[in-house]
Amino acid sequence: MKKGLSLIIFMLLLTTFSCTKQDDAKKEGEIMNTSELPSIAERVKAYAPTDIKVDISNMTENQKKLVQLLVEAGKIADEIFWQQTSFDAISIRDSLLKLNNPDVKDLLEYVKINYGPYDLIHEHQRFVGEGPQKRFDGGTYYPQDMTKEEFEKYIAAHPEQKAELESQYTVIVRDGAKLKAVPFHEAYPLTIKLADKLEEAAKFADNPTFKNYLMLRAKAIRTDDYFESDMAWMDIKNSDIDIVIGPIENYEDAIFNYKTAYECVVMIKDLQATKDLEMFNHHVLDFEKNLPYDKKYIRDKVGQGTQINFVNVAYFGGDCQKGIKTIAASLPNDPKVREAKGGGKNSMYKNMMEAKFDKIVIPIGHKILENSLVPFLDKKAFITFVTLHEVSHTLGRDIVFGTKDMSVRKSMKEKYSAIEEAKADILGLYNHKILVDMKIYDNDYLKKTMVTYLAGLYRSIRFGAEEAHGKANLVQLNFIRFR
Ligand SMILES: [Zn+2]
Repeated sequence: MKKGLSLIIFMLLLTTFSCTKQDDAKKEGEIMNTSELPSIAERVKAYAPTDIKVDISNMTENQKKLVQLLVEAGKIADEIFWQQTSFDAISIRDSLLKLNNPDVKDLLEYVKINYGPYDLIHEHQRFVGEGPQKRFDGGTYYPQDMTKEEFEKYIAAHPEQKAELESQYTVIVRDGAKLKAVPFHEAYPLTIKLADKLEEAAKFADNPTFKNYLMLRAKAIRTDDYFESDMAWMDIKNSDIDIVIGPIENYEDAIFNYKTAYECVVMIKDLQATKDLEMFNHHVLDFEKNLPYDKKYIRDKVGQGTQINFVNVAYFGGDCQKGIKTIAASLPNDPKVREAKGGGKNSMYKNMMEAKFDKIVIPIGHKILENSLVPFLDKKAFITFVTLHEVSHTLGRDIVFGTKDMSVRKSMKEKYSAIEEAKADILGLYNHKILVDMKIYDNDYLKKTMVTYLAGLYRSIRFGAEEAHGKANLVQLNFIRFR
């Protein structure tokens, strides 16, 4: 580790696999024969170890200590996530660690990349240990023998339990013939340690809004009531350091997308780049007003609270570190907070985006594009597209039209994530065109963005059809191909 430089090594998914042919012959629901898959060593090699750097040399001693404690908190969130992915994830990881044998080095590495024994880019197939061949869609959030139908029937018969059973922050267990909801803070005793760590970190936070957030976040993790801390997160002002921590996204629950997964992102703000991005903030309302659907659905109070921050990632843990790395996030997910604040906070992970562009988008572009188009691959256009994608997540209705508080996320259930990702991509391009019409960008830059987007489609398809972004990009590519 260099002086004053926090250096982290991430694995970026690098190459594509040549299993398309076999996929063509497969029927839906049929799983791939494991003999058709690359060896574990080859699968590990498909991920590129990449140095991700953050310059913290200008920080005060207090700030450095704060970052260190936040990373420690992140490691606890990471360990909680291991408990959520599959029932034997931790036991398999720990038994391989215990072996301490160079022969299982790749296997251990691959278990760590996938956070368990199921291969997330190969249809969640088991690659080590005894157990079901395919990952249970509900992770460890539900009893392993529970079906979607059983859960829905049970709720219809016990409406008084509906809220707690469908809660984002409970684990469902069997209690005789009943289903019972156990809050995360009881299901995962490590939450106590995590809350303590955030309170310890708060002591080193000089910025009062950030300190307040850390204290409220610790309280939220102890109670699983996140509203107040999410509101406080939106209120953080003028802080060079930021953190996302707790149970956030619901991709891990592939049965209903109800339950959330623990994760942590420790971020160091890039002040200059953030300033450059302010332009997008000024046009959020224009984007909303131009949404291509009936005007009655358009919200007139939107965007005033939207924030876009350019940050460098100092630590990734849990859900966002599993397999494919996130390059940006639009949070918080709670529509009530977004409504109250007039928008969300978009964090653009600069060092991650740059690494993905260099190591993934460029090589893919060279493979799939006609030579005359290759020069249009552009790093800045990639970042603009990702930014517009994130801004587009904040557009459109969060609450179903005509209802008081029925969120779109909840009503679309397991279909939500992929459709929302497809929406953000298409709307990202659509809004780029609006900026061209406003003469902020020219057509040449739009072409760069579209070419870079095309290479990006192939980038995200590699996440697999089981994953929301992978699915969303497959839909787009099919649409483009067969038009
Ligand atoms: Zn997205």
